[in-house]
Amino acid sequence: MALYALTGGTTGIGGELKKQLLDLGHEVISVDIKEGDITADLSTPEGRATAIAGIRERAPDGLDGFIPCAGLPPVARPLGLIPAVNYFGVVEMAEGLRDLVAKRRGTILLVASNSAPMVPKDDPYVELCLAGDEGAALSDIASKDGHTAYAGSKRAVSAWMRRNVVSYAKEGVRLNAVAPGITMTPLTEQVMADEELGQAMRDFGEMVPWGGTAQPAQIANVMRFLLSAESDFVCGSVIFIDGGSDAMLRPDDF
Ligand code: NAD
Repeated sequence: MALYALTGGTTGIGGELKKQLLDLGHEVISVDIKEGDITADLSTPEGRATAIAGIRERAPDGLDGFIPCAGLPPVARPLGLIPAVNYFGVVEMAEGLRDLVAKRRGTILLVASNSAPMVPKDDPYVELCLAGDEGAALSDIASKDGHTAYAGSKRAVSAWMRRNVVSYAKEGVRLNAVAPGITMTPLTEQVMADEELGQAMRDFGEMVPWGGTAQPAQIANVMRFLLSAESDFVCGSVIFIDGGSDAMLRPDDF
């Protein structure tokens, strides 16, 4: 049986993945701002340090996988919280745990979004994230909008994963990402309740080629596969789980 650590395991996609892994008899260390095995606020360097130390203490012999799933929606405020959790919280945790995952030749599975390609890759905010300049990224996004803050953080997470595949693989860590479409979770409920973004999300949901929205299990099923030995030649991939939306929007771009 395997030992995994994940963030954001209290609700939504992370909560469902945690349940599925536990049902299979695996062990899971959960980090969350509320009700985790380790309670930590991943928007702050202190919270990330607490989370990394807590996982290291519980997994001295290594991890089979790490899944930084915690994330905030486009409606979170102040806007700087979005990159702080969705990008810097993810990358700092992955870097802080890579040697533990390498010990077991394991996987780090990131959670991007099908919204990631909606922000250009040369957007200054995305570039500041990738440069690791948290202060500058947070001040750049402060004058922009929630959609750019969210989708840009996911664009940066995807690019960070692709750029780091070679060095992580050399150490014995498989990096991949999933890019879910609209999934019915507390995060999505917050967006749906927003006057402007809620309508845009409902309109987008109606265009999904395969129809409708996902349940968390439909995302977690694929994540569970990507964590398993059955997928052990999948490396450096961004897997869209979005009912065909990305293919609809970017048919020739892959
Ligand atoms: P969710 O709100 O149900 O889960 C997010 C989890 O992150 C919660 O357990 C929450 O407590 C935790 N969290 C939030 N802020 C935190 C912080 N500062 N420190 C520690 N933990 C914190 O949402 P979800 O939809 O399950 O989202 C999971 C991931 O999937 C996120 O990264 C999200 O961006 C991504 N995603 C979701 C959708 C969707 O439609 N729901 C689509 C694409 C990607």
